Amino acid sequence: MKVLIADAINEKGIENLKAVADVVVDTTITPEELANTIHEYNGIVVRSRTKLTKDILKNADNMQIIARAGVGVDNIDLDAATEKGIMVVNSPESTSVTVAEHTMGLILSMARKISIADKSVKDGKWEKKKFMGVELRNKTLGVIGMGRIGSQVVNRCKSFGMDAMAYDPYLPEEVAKQMGVELTDLNTVLKNSDFITIHVPLTPETKHSISTPQFELMKDSAFIVNCARGGIIDEDALYDALVNNKIGGAALDVYEEEPPKESKLFDLDNIVLTPHIAASTKEAQRDAAIIVADEIIELTKGNNPKNVLNMPRIDNNTYQELSPYMELCERLGSFISQAVNGKLQEIEIIYSGELAKIDNLEILTRTVIQGAVNPFLSSPVNAVNAALVAKDRGISITEGRKNNAQGYDSLIKIIAKSNTDTFSAEGTHLHESRILKVNDYWVDVIPEGNMFIAKYEDVPGSIGKIGTKLGEHDVNIGIMQVGRDEKGGRAIMVLTLDKQIPNNVIKEIQSLDNVYEAIGLSL
Ligand code: NAD
Repeated sequence: MKVLIADAINEKGIENLKAVADVVVDTTITPEELANTIHEYNGIVVRSRTKLTKDILKNADNMQIIARAGVGVDNIDLDAATEKGIMVVNSPESTSVTVAEHTMGLILSMARKISIADKSVKDGKWEKKKFMGVELRNKTLGVIGMGRIGSQVVNRCKSFGMDAMAYDPYLPEEVAKQMGVELTDLNTVLKNSDFITIHVPLTPETKHSISTPQFELMKDSAFIVNCARGGIIDEDALYDALVNNKIGGAALDVYEEEPPKESKLFDLDNIVLTPHIAASTKEAQRDAAIIVADEIIELTKGNNPKNVLNMPRIDNNTYQELSPYMELCERLGSFISQAVNGKLQEIEIIYSGELAKIDNLEILTRTVIQGAVNPFLSSPVNAVNAALVAKDRGISITEGRKNNAQGYDSLIKIIAKSNTDTFSAEGTHLHESRILKVNDYWVDVIPEGNMFIAKYEDVPGSIGKIGTKLGEHDVNIGIMQVGRDEKGGRAIMVLTLDKQIPNNVIKEIQSLDNVYEAIGLSL
């Protein structure tokens, strides 16, 4: 693997990467140089200097992974990367403790008026009375967003003797309990907290979610911190709340516009402002470099990096459970899309048994799609971009689950529907991938290499005639499986062949009496 380090990152990350990859460090590379050379690389590490635009990424033909040492990916065109099938990873956990510590710094600075006291002393004053503060002990912390950073803030505030309550509609009650925090609604948090701290992403739902009506609910003594993203707090409403002493104070690290130009907030004493530095520590930078290097190292080992932004996030244990089924999914997808007649319009995937109990099976679903669309595409897709390609081609995907796996641990059934036909295959992983049913007929075949399917009438001689035709054209049969609905009814034959069956042979078999259909496949 050849990896370009395009922005300055901590040496430790580079050193780790060098053990597994051919590493080129060029932290002054220009956009033009990058556009001309990006096709040489399989991986790239950036911070925020390098912009990976659609124009640059269109040349990234061999790129597998873009690693952002840090959190924000505003400098990476995620859609363009996804379209190219390039994984984008970042290192969100590298800054959690750092941001939580900065939040603590701001909370303490507000409570004890540290920053304005500092300025006063430096101005030659000694205003002891003016800087009367409050303790954190026995106060209530209200957290909005109990993710990585919110939970770290709670831990730290607990050691100051604070109680904590939180609003996070996406966090299960159980998980909140383990974090030692009571989950409640937003208004209860706003009404009862002495210190409110925001740790949610900026989304249409959270934009200006703290505005005049929310300030109205807060205690007059309440302090509020935003170390998350500018725009979550409505800055005009915040100014009014501070000027009118509707709240005790505020601290911001992030702003609606960055840098904030001539904000009226600058004139106020009851606000502490820092220039978006909550994540800026040496440790966070070192950890970011090590984490993204680890992500690339995992990829070189054939494992799933954990912070992939354009693929479903699954933990390592689940990945281990699912990985044996990935090959099966890809082969089943490829099998049904080659076997169905007409234009593929719908793929239905039904997981049964143990697999059906796993929450997130999206990685398997994407692998089925990858298998299904690859046979008719000139450049192969992968699990990153397969869903996008299917959507563009108007193929709808549905996922279902069933408890009963008919005596097997797990079964995966794929039903392909086209404008003229329906074809299904069902399989499992038993030391290797196996197809157990084709169009609901029981068979048992390993889906690999050159294959052949014939649908025929179950009358004496049908199987022999097909076998003879193959023999005449020197196509040797590896494995033959036949299944039928009833004696003399419709039957299906699934063969593995030692070489690809030529089209003219398929046509000859198709024209045999009692043969309804003959299909050659290559997996
Ligand atoms: P995270 O994804 O781990 O946690 C976010 C939490 O917010 C999740 O638990 C989610 O369920 C919750 N949430 C989402 N929408 C919500 C809503 N409408 N109401 C309440 N809760 C909601 O993220 P994190 O790593 O903890 O980061 C939190 C914030 O901090 C993000 O906005 C991130 O961009 C920001 N951040 C800022 C800096 C900085 O330099 N100031 C650095 C790193 C992260």
